[in-house]
Amino acid sequence: MNSKIKQKLLKFSTIRRVIQFLSFIFFSAAIFNVGALPLLLPVFWTWGMETNIVGDAFTALQFMLYNAVFPWLVIASFLIVGVILGKSLCGWVCPFGFIQDLIGFIKRKKMDISPRTHQSMIYIKYAILGIALFISVTFSAAKLTEAHGGYEKALGIFAEAPFTTLSPSETLFATLPKMIVDFRNAVSEIPFLDVLSGVATLSPLFWVQLFIMVGVLVFSAYVPRGWCKYFCPHGAIMAILNKFSFLGLRRDLVKCTKAECRICVQACPMNVRILDLPWEKFSDPECIYCLKCVDACPNKAIKLKYP
Ligand code: SF4
Ligand code: SF4
Repeated sequence: MNSKIKQKLLKFSTIRRVIQFLSFIFFSAAIFNVGALPLLLPVFWTWGMETNIVGDAFTALQFMLYNAVFPWLVIASFLIVGVILGKSLCGWVCPFGFIQDLIGFIKRKKMDISPRTHQSMIYIKYAILGIALFISVTFSAAKLTEAHGGYEKALGIFAEAPFTTLSPSETLFATLPKMIVDFRNAVSEIPFLDVLSGVATLSPLFWVQLFIMVGVLVFSAYVPRGWCKYFCPHGAIMAILNKFSFLGLRRDLVKCTKAECRICVQACPMNVRILDLPWEKFSDPECIYCLKCVDACPNKAIKLKYP
């Protein structure tokens, strides 16, 4: 095999793409016609597909709180994955992360976000997480005291799963595919003009969902992992747990030519300030362990460290 091709295949990025692709196929149990498993993972996925093999832990959390059930399974999933693997599922397994990486190939020239703006924007995801949790927890408390009637009415479509109702992942992986299938069936059964009038009467909620999804995907074309960095509530929870993870990276001070290089920092899609972090071991809240920095370093100075 040509040595250049061989070198490319051995890069972590190539292995990661293969794992992302296989996970994406595996997640979609419908393809294999496998029944649903009670496997909850902290990745941005959907509950909308009937034969899901993997459940999105944050959506499960909202459903459990809506039904006033203590979400021990979800908490266990976040804690176990967080401590053992840190935020690496975001980099290697998450289907929405995979889609963003693919979209990132469309636009080679990326938007320049200043470190200051980046630092302020990373808190948006904590705000989204806080709002969703506040609604779900207060609703759960109201349900336990049987005082939820008025609250449920006021929340309307947001009562059951306040975040997932508008989640771009739900729209991309469940709402749109279902609509396409329904549309195909309708076209074969009823006159085309009736189908078109059906499209014109789609609910306002759908247009909002579509607007958010398209906005997020376009943003991700310009900003690598834009959704993960700034808006994802899974990312917010995993960022907190990343600090307590066994997983980390180590930068060899002898090999690193820090002053005249910085290639690793430029390669990082999550804007991690690699060179300002402790060299012995760093597990930055934002790091998704994509290992792009490891691949990029000309001196092989960065390595995985476990524990
Ligand atoms: S790419 Fe490697 S050598 Fe360059 S600054 Fe980063 S760790 Fe140091
Ligand atoms: S620090 Fe390295 S492994 Fe972590 S997100 Fe940045 S490039 Fe990926």
